[in-house]
Formats: sequence, structure tokens, C-alpha cells
Amino acid sequence: MEVYLDNAATTKVSKDVVLEMTNALKNIYGNPSSVHFKGTEAQEEIDKVRKIIAKKINAEAKEIIFTSGGSEGNNFCIKGIVKASKKKHIITSKIEHASVLNTCKQLELDGFKVTYIDVDKNGLVNPKDVEKAIKKDTALVTIMHANNEIGTIQDIEKIGKICKKHKVLFHTDAVQSFLKEKIDAKYIDALTISAHKFHGPKGVGAVYLRQGMKVDKLIEGGKQEFNLRGGTQNVPGIIGMGKAVELWKENKMKDLRDYMIKRILTEIPGTKLNGHKTKRLANNINISFDDVEGEVVMLHLSYLNVAVGTGSACHEKMIKVSHVLHAIGLDKKSAIGAVRFTLSPFTTKKEVDFAIEKLKTVVQTLRKVKT
Ligand SMILES: *Cc1c(COP(=O)(O)O)cnc(C)c1O
Repeated sequence: MEVYLDNAATTKVSKDVVLEMTNALKNIYGNPSSVHFKGTEAQEEIDKVRKIIAKKINAEAKEIIFTSGGSEGNNFCIKGIVKASKKKHIITSKIEHASVLNTCKQLELDGFKVTYIDVDKNGLVNPKDVEKAIKKDTALVTIMHANNEIGTIQDIEKIGKICKKHKVLFHTDAVQSFLKEKIDAKYIDALTISAHKFHGPKGVGAVYLRQGMKVDKLIEGGKQEFNLRGGTQNVPGIIGMGKAVELWKENKMKDLRDYMIKRILTEIPGTKLNGHKTKRLANNINISFDDVEGEVVMLHLSYLNVAVGTGSACHEKMIKVSHVLHAIGLDKKSAIGAVRFTLSPFTTKKEVDFAIEKLKTVVQTLRKVKT
């Protein structure tokens, strides 16, 4: 048996998505910008996907722009909005994805000021802290919807309303939450999604940009995507992404998540759940194991055909603790001992049971070696 519990990193492309994409590669080969029948056919196909995505977040099809994925989407929304603005201040949180944090850091070098909001011990941003940080010069608030490491879900409706009240634009990285959580674009000005996080292909995604907003282009080129993103669209990728959205099913992921959390916490001593108990992605389990290193647990589980994630990464003798686990106040030992298990709608109880049995053996063995 092979068990894949790293669905926050990426997901397996669904069979039906592969079929749809194969067909697109073979037949929908026109350039959407071409005016002849092969071009208009491709344009019509990707416009269908625009509608499918827009509908999921209560937006308009013309507010959806295709990108190469989550990282480009975050770069585009953040740089595009603040560079088109005269204001020079940005608000974000300390637990954002690298594609947001590093974009902000780069903008600081370009003369922008950035406020990095603290989170509480569960990884929650207090919307009041966002309100307090807003200044006359604030161009954008960018706060992720759900965190990729600990699964904590932010109250983006409340944050969005605060931004609206103060006439500040609001972007959210919804790469982890799209389809798993309800999203209403009414409260949001810009949002990022990525197909490979929901059983679509890698290298394709989309952003929602509220109609009428001033946004600078990230990629110069032709007038594709309403003149907001140059370059010929990834037609098969976009078609695959559309299929993946349609195929997504609400299922018992949450029950399986809670089952797994309960079993680990009760059957393995010296364990603690990281992140919020209830305001949490349906597929996320992040647990710190005392007296072991998450990275080592991950490698041992990998030998046993169980793929999981960690927050820390070993670089020779240095262990770099994840900025997210640091921000929620975990001590270094707990942060190093963290392991992330992320489920998919296709994960079965049998797979979870298999992973737990292997996990118990690995943690027990590693702890014995240590003492
Ligand atoms: C994966 C991820 C991204 C980056 O998406 P890519 O398509 O891999 O570039 C951004 N934000 C979050 C929260 C993610 O989980």
C-alpha cells in the first residue's frame, strides 16, 4: 500500500482531468487570441472555465484571470495592486505563504512599508489588529484565507468588511481554502487559487480581480486576459482546472481528519495538535511529537510508503523552524517535532489506519533510539 498524505503540497491529478486534458491537447490546439474557428473554440473553452470558477466564489466571469499558479497569482495581485496605487503601505500576516511574504519583502526594498500582523497561539489573525494597522497610506491588506501548514482559517469576511469600511483593498491567498471553504467575493477585491491543490494540473491557476480595480500587469505581452496578463493561455491546463473544480466533492474529509487527530493524540503519548481545533481546514492535521524530529519521522514514514509533510527543513546541521510554527509561539523543540498530514477527498479510512500504524512504530522506534 502507498499512502499519500501530503495534499497541501500538491494533489494527484484526477483521472477525468487527465482525460479532459488529453482531449484538449489533441484537439483544442488553437490560440485563444486567433479569430478563426480554432482560436474561438479555445477561447470559448477557457471562458467556460472562467464561469465555473467565478460561480464558486460569487464573482463575474470577467473578473477571473488565468495565471501559472498560486505563486504568480500572489505576486500579480500584490504587486499589481500596490504599484497601481499611490499609497505605499501594505498589511499582511506573519504566517503567509512564501510567495506573499517574499513579495512583501521585495516591495520593502522598493520603498513600500509593510506591517506584519501577529497571530495568536492557534494561528488566528485578530481582525481588530488589521483595523488598528490601517493608515492613510495603506494600499492593500493581504491575509491568507487558510494556512498551508496548520490549516487555520481566518475570518476573511470580517477582515474584508473592515477593509471596505476604510476603503483599503483586500487580497486573500485562497490556494488552500478554495472549494474546501465557502468564499464570497463580495467582501474581497483580489484572490488567488491554484489548480494543483485540488486535483488539477500543476502550473495553472487563476486570480479574481474585482471589476474596475486598477492593477498593473505582472507579465507584459499581448492583450490576453483582458489586457491584464500577457502570454498565450495554458489552454489544456485551464480546461483541466475547470474539470477539477467540477469534480470536487464535499465528503467526509472532516470526519476522517478528526478521527486521525483523535487516534494520534490518544494512542501516541507526547503529542499536541497545532493550529485551531475548529477553525481548521477539513483536510489538515498538524501535530508536534515530543523528542523526535518531524523531518526524521517524515523520512522514516517515506521508507514505509507513507508520504507526509513537515514544517521544518534540515540543512546539514542547521534545522530551520517554520515561520508559521514560530509565529504561533511554539518552542523550538515542538516546532522541530511537527509533522503535517493532509488528506484529500479520495483518502480512505484504510489508508489513514495504515499511516497511523506506521507512525506509531516510527515514533516509538525513534524515541527508543534517543533514550
Ligand atoms: C501551494 C501554495 C501556494 C503556491 O501555489 P503554486 O501554484 O504552487 O505556485 C501559495 N499559497 C498557498 C497557501 C499554497 O498552499
